[in-house]
Amino acid sequence: LRRSNASLNANRINVSFEFFPPKNGDMETTLFESVTRLAPYHPDFVSVTYGAGGSTRGPTLNTVRRIHAETDLAAAAHLTCVGSTREEVDAVVREFADVGVKHFVALRGDPQGGIGTKYAPHPGGYANGAELAAGIRAIDEDFEVSVSAYPEKHPESPDFATDIDLLKRKMDAGATRAITQFFFDNDAYERYVERARRAGIYIPIVPGILPIHNFGQVAKFANMCGADIPDWLGERFDGLENDPETRALVATTIAADQVMDLVERGVHDFHFYTMNRAKLVYAICHMLGLRGENREEAAA
Ligand code: FAD
Repeated sequence: LRRSNASLNANRINVSFEFFPPKNGDMETTLFESVTRLAPYHPDFVSVTYGAGGSTRGPTLNTVRRIHAETDLAAAAHLTCVGSTREEVDAVVREFADVGVKHFVALRGDPQGGIGTKYAPHPGGYANGAELAAGIRAIDEDFEVSVSAYPEKHPESPDFATDIDLLKRKMDAGATRAITQFFFDNDAYERYVERARRAGIYIPIVPGILPIHNFGQVAKFANMCGADIPDWLGERFDGLENDPETRALVATTIAADQVMDLVERGVHDFHFYTMNRAKLVYAICHMLGLRGENREEAAA
């Protein structure tokens, strides 16, 4: 790992953690163990994803409610607008506001036919992340709105200029932070941020970091959402299919190396895709200089 990590100043590092709503009781237990484990790192916020078309409205709402009831963390709710009218989406915003949500991650969502099919906005709905951001801020201008960004370009975008233009529209609509799709090529992220800055986008573009729990799944998903999987990444997991312990160590090393390199490039904010599991993210944050709680089990 990079030597300069010795000079890390943890006070300058801000993190946030993303979770998805659980599908059953066991998954809920795992999720809340992870939330509890990561909470001592004092994330700026934790976010809970939202199924396209409102498919997880209830579970997302319940998860956010429980986070607020059991922790002192600020929960942000993701929200998608695909397949819904503006009125329906606005009603969901108010429902979340009623359980104390003040921060939304505003997303268009994937096409209803699945990734790769043509997206058709609802005739009476918000057409994309920028329109949704504006709609949320119109309900309450004090709401914090984060939006998505794609360092390797959204697969539906014809070119980077279109993508950057949309990000600018999101910012102009009131978004105060962009969170990126996961990526493994820090040069691509840096190039994207430079393009955005040249286009007058001044909000933070927070890298979304995905520690790899399952390389096969990540490779498949990356292929669908346009993120590049470099050859070296596959090679590092090669032969570890039946060795979860070594896989976890390798995954932690890869993600830690990525974030350390980003720190060297001047990045201080990180959003982690936790996959509802704490172990890898906990170790990576520790290496970033953050300090949580020492546990006897963790030391065993
Ligand atoms: P936008 O940024 O609005 O648009 C994406 C691209 O599509 C644009 O670059 C543009 O070229 C094109 N486009 C936009 N509008 C139109 C239009 N009307 N017609 C034709 N083309 C258009 N998905 C979920 O379902 N739930 C989540 O909780 C969730 N959380 C996410 C969090 C982050 C940080 C990120 C990066 C992604 C998340 N996603 C989530 C995935 C996201 O919904 C998909 O990537 C989706 O395909 C695009 O949504 P968006 O808001 O990024 O779209």
